[in-house]
Amino acid sequence: MQMLIGGAWTPAAQGEVIGVFNPATGELLDQVPLGRAEDVDAAAGAAAGAGPRWSAVPPRERGKRLYAAAQAIRERKEALALLLTREQGKPLAEARNEILGAANVLEYYASIAGTLAGTAAALPGYGHAAVVPQPLGVCAAIVPWNMPALILAWKLGPALLAGNTMVVKPSRSTPLVSLHIAGIVGDACGVPGAVNMVTGTGSGAGEALVAHPVVRHVSFTGQTDTGRRVAARASGDLKQVSLELGGSDPMIVCGDADIAAAVAGALHGRFYNCGQTCTAVKRLYVEAPVYDEFLRKLAAGARAIRVGNGIEPGVAMGPLHRAADRDRLCAMVAALQEDGLARVVAGGGIPGGASPAGQFMEPTILAEPDPAAPVLTEEIFGPVLPVVRVEDLDEAIASANRSRYGLGASIWTRDLAAAARAAEQVRCGIFWVNQHLKIPPDVPFGGTGASGIGRENGMSAPQRYMETKTVLVRP
Ligand code: NDP
Repeated sequence: MQMLIGGAWTPAAQGEVIGVFNPATGELLDQVPLGRAEDVDAAAGAAAGAGPRWSAVPPRERGKRLYAAAQAIRERKEALALLLTREQGKPLAEARNEILGAANVLEYYASIAGTLAGTAAALPGYGHAAVVPQPLGVCAAIVPWNMPALILAWKLGPALLAGNTMVVKPSRSTPLVSLHIAGIVGDACGVPGAVNMVTGTGSGAGEALVAHPVVRHVSFTGQTDTGRRVAARASGDLKQVSLELGGSDPMIVCGDADIAAAVAGALHGRFYNCGQTCTAVKRLYVEAPVYDEFLRKLAAGARAIRVGNGIEPGVAMGPLHRAADRDRLCAMVAALQEDGLARVVAGGGIPGGASPAGQFMEPTILAEPDPAAPVLTEEIFGPVLPVVRVEDLDEAIASANRSRYGLGASIWTRDLAAAARAAEQVRCGIFWVNQHLKIPPDVPFGGTGASGIGRENGMSAPQRYMETKTVLVRP
């Protein structure tokens, strides 16, 4: 596939390409341009050129066009989901879910198009005041590989609704579905250059985009260390920045919880997308009276998960997206077990019979990990779940807060007072009671601490891509 610049499918200026591979088979799926600074410059120029035409489209009409884009995505759900499975690795059911999720997000922004109006007031002594929201101009979006369709929609929806034009850099290893969606949304907008996509690496096209003088806002999703670099680079000419970064979500299971529901929630919360979700359940704190029963059921559930190529029926967990991550995680689990820092009660290695070309790992449960073990102190982006025994809710909350991250967190209990206390005291951007992982587009989503700054989603998202101009009129 080619890049999308100014409404046209375009090769890289220097003609270079990078390969896109299937993590379940190692197969080369396609090649995309290796975009560099001159390609970013062309895309930023196209976006700037399209700005006046796109911002002149009335907000409700912009909403209608986003809605049309969502319908086009729904119509192509099967083809897009299959491509997503092949380039990212997730099972087909999860891929369908993500594609529909992206359409749902665009529909949500279409539905709030009428809320962008400014305010007007009579100010005695000053005359009449109008506060007029205006688009920022060219906005950049940088997207990771774990949810390339959904996270793209989180950024395109509010920025376009607010009247901005966009230049997007998808992950170098999942550009294909992103390019298709960018093409669909760009066509629906009807203004060539409103949506541009430059493929390439983070250190090449990504850095050039963040530093480009035309760009006024950078919305970045990815690792915390990368986010720091992006923020530092964007600060040079005072761009606005939103950073959705890593997480190490705690899940607390109280003694009175519905154990079957909590086990199912933990399995889904950790092993969805092979554990490669920012808000995956990454640390589990279980009260002592139910710890053994919970662990036994959780381990049995993990062993029952069928791992394989996501296009095969019945497969519930695909490969890790990156081979190096699979090897690093297997080595970490082996070292923890060898050093007596955790006990492996399910999984721990490469599944027997798995294709050697695929980057597969067994769903892994670790019992009673050492509090200083990296599996509790670092973000683990893969199918490894440490289960910690805690005496009571106070210990669970204190342990949950022992992390530099603060993205999501959940509690599983029938006691609403306990739930309310945890919701108040656990440091995070989104807190769930008796569920985890759910992120509706209708409410703000984001993290605190090392999990980032800013929020995506919700009624206020388009405002984050706008600034107000105040006009005072003396009659
Ligand atoms: P990375 O930080 O490695 O990459 C994210 C994107 O940034 C990629 O497109 C990457 O390009 C690009 N990039 C890398 N370096 C730079 C740079 N110097 N300047 C500009 N862009 C750059 O993250 P991953 O792709 O590994 O994504 C996984 C991470 O994302 C996890 O930590 C996860 O928790 C987090 N995440 C957070 C979410 C949230 O909402 N809080 C949601 C989903 C994921 P390249 O193609 O070269 O990789």
